[in-house]
Amino acid sequence: MKKRYLMLALIILMFSLSVVSASENVSVANDTLAIDGDGLSVIEEPNDSIIESGNSDVGLIGDSSSESNLSDSGSGTNVSSNNAQTTDDKSVVSKAKPAKVTNTKDISSTYGTVVYYKVKVLDKAGKAIEGQKVSFTIVGKGTVTKYTDANGIAMVSCNCSAGSYVIKYKADNVTGSNTYTVKNKISLTVLKWGIKGDVTKNKLIKKNMPNNAWVKKIVAATKKGIPLLTIKGGSGKVVFMTAGVHGNEISSQVAAMKMINYLTKHPIKGTVYFMPFVNVKAISKKVRYTDKDFNRIADKSGTIPNKIVKLVKKYKCDAYGDFHTTKPGGVPGKNIVMGSKTPATQSAALTKYIAKKCKVNQRIYKYAGQQYPGGINDNVNKLGIPAVICEVMLPHNTVTTKTVKTSYNMMKYFLKFNSAI
Ligand SMILES: [Zn+2]
Repeated sequence: MKKRYLMLALIILMFSLSVVSASENVSVANDTLAIDGDGLSVIEEPNDSIIESGNSDVGLIGDSSSESNLSDSGSGTNVSSNNAQTTDDKSVVSKAKPAKVTNTKDISSTYGTVVYYKVKVLDKAGKAIEGQKVSFTIVGKGTVTKYTDANGIAMVSCNCSAGSYVIKYKADNVTGSNTYTVKNKISLTVLKWGIKGDVTKNKLIKKNMPNNAWVKKIVAATKKGIPLLTIKGGSGKVVFMTAGVHGNEISSQVAAMKMINYLTKHPIKGTVYFMPFVNVKAISKKVRYTDKDFNRIADKSGTIPNKIVKLVKKYKCDAYGDFHTTKPGGVPGKNIVMGSKTPATQSAALTKYIAKKCKVNQRIYKYAGQQYPGGINDNVNKLGIPAVICEVMLPHNTVTTKTVKTSYNMMKYFLKFNSAI
């Protein structure tokens, strides 16, 4: 008998222990994303989207693809309002005539978050009309039809890609519109891969920082590790960009800050991962590298550049762009875009496009890694992901308006090729 109680107590003890450890794991998972055993702590994940209380009777206009949605995801084309019209089956049909619609207001949200748009329909006497048909249209996205409740309110939920839209309502002859704005979803991650610094110690970085809250957060984060900004605007391509692989190549880092300033203020398509200060330690010390050249060891497992290559693969990126500067008389020593024909064949097309648009030189190698086996872009390319390296020429540890502009344009056309902007 005693033995049986002992067993039972033991089982209860084991069970409660496993519950405790499971809940601990959950809380760890919430703020730490492990990548190949490395700490990746999210320090900023703003959630400023507006979510009003739910109503089960709402149609959804947006990008996701559940039954009640009007979806434009994947195809990249707009849904025509004729095809997209859905009508709720309501037994209550109003006999009163709408005279006025009130309570409408502009709506906004962050990509991936539903926001509700509602109208209140009144008759001539100012009384709420129940069962009134109201059609809602997001211009370029689609239309849904809803009916007012007992309080005269009809509501539609919206979930579109980043951008600015016009949302219209129509209740009999009463029509009107508001604006619907969807911002990019942005988050900052700090990669704790064993190096940190303070890029503001580099006066050229500090002096050329645009006045942008995200850039300030990124710069501050270099004290903790390597910052990685994620910008999501929709369901398009996924691209990864880096600058500062070499610490003393400042123009491309300044261009990266300027590009981040643009991307955080304008709606984008798809996802952009941006690492503007890769070798934070070398940048802070104004040197090319402190221990080993990051662009020569990406083929060596466990190194920081190899971790970047793995991250590009993990995020299933469609393209990778690495932005550098090169000194006069150095290698390559000119404004140039470089890629490889194999194995990622699109790399050659990407190289040609950027070079043509930026009016700079191009070099397309036959095989990735032909020049150096340890280049980051080459090792990404070897995984079948199109990759390029873009260089602007000027002396190291200098910045000019012209070279920043050229590097910025290289980034711009890298993004344009991938339909992100
Ligand atoms: Zn370089």
